[in-house]
Amino acid sequence: MAQRPYIVGNWKMHGTRAMLAEARAIDRAAERLIKVEVALAPPFTLVHATRNEASLIAVGGQDCHPADGGAHTGDISAAMLKDAGAGFVIVGHSERRADHGESNADVKAKAEAAIAAGLNVILCVGESEAERDAGKAEKVVGKQLKESLPEGKAIADKVTVAYEPVWAIGTGRTPTIEEIGEMHVSIRKLLADTLGSGGKNVRILYGGSVKAENAAEIFGAKEVGGALVGGASLSAESFLGIIIAAAEKLES
Ligand code: PEP
Repeated sequence: MAQRPYIVGNWKMHGTRAMLAEARAIDRAAERLIKVEVALAPPFTLVHATRNEASLIAVGGQDCHPADGGAHTGDISAAMLKDAGAGFVIVGHSERRADHGESNADVKAKAEAAIAAGLNVILCVGESEAERDAGKAEKVVGKQLKESLPEGKAIADKVTVAYEPVWAIGTGRTPTIEEIGEMHVSIRKLLADTLGSGGKNVRILYGGSVKAENAAEIFGAKEVGGALVGGASLSAESFLGIIIAAAEKLES
C-alpha cells in the first residue's frame, strides 16, 4: 500500500493523568516501529498532556462541536482541540450516534468544522447487527458515508474512514475476513466515485474488537489500511501487539 498503515487508539471515557505512562510507552514503541503511523485519541482532558508527553505519535480528540464557539455548555470546538495540540478528531463514532443522537448531517458538519480548523478527520461508519442480518450492511454503510462525508474533492487527504460494525465494538465478536474485505472494497468504490483519484488513497480502517491475536488476520483483508482500536489500546502492551502486526502485514 502507498501509505503507512495507521493504527489509532480510542481511549473513550477512560484515563486520568495516571494513564500518561501508557501514552509514553506507546510513543516509545512507535519510535521503534516507524513503518506504522500510530495515533491516540484520549479524553479531552488528556489531549494537551498526551501531546506534551509523546513526541512521535499523533494525538486527537474523540468528538468536536460543529460551531467555532458560543453558548454550548460542555462542548469543545475543533479550534479548541487544535489549540490543545490535537492533529485530528474522530467524528461519527457509533457511541456518539447512539448516546447523543448524532445524525449523518451532524457528523458531516463536525467533519467540515474540523477540516476548517486544520484538523484531520477519522469518520466512523458501521451497521447494526439487525442491519447485517437483514443483508443491508453495505447499503446502510454506503448511505452513512455519502451523507457524512464533507463536501469537495480536496478533503480526500484530510479524511480517514473507519468501518466499525456496531455489534463488533467491545463485544469480542468480528465479521469474517471476507465480510471485512467486502465492506472495505465497497467503501473504496464509493470513495473513488465521490472523490475521484483522491478517493483511491483515503485510508480505510477496520474497528471492532481488534486485538493482538486477530490483528494480523484482519490486516490481510482487502483494502484494510489499519485499525481503530478501543479496549486493546488502553495498555501499551496490548496495543503494541497490534502495531507490530500492522508493521509485519501492511507495510508493503
Ligand atoms: C471503538 O470503540 O472504536 C472500538 C473499536 O472499540 P473496541 O476495539 O473495544 O471494540
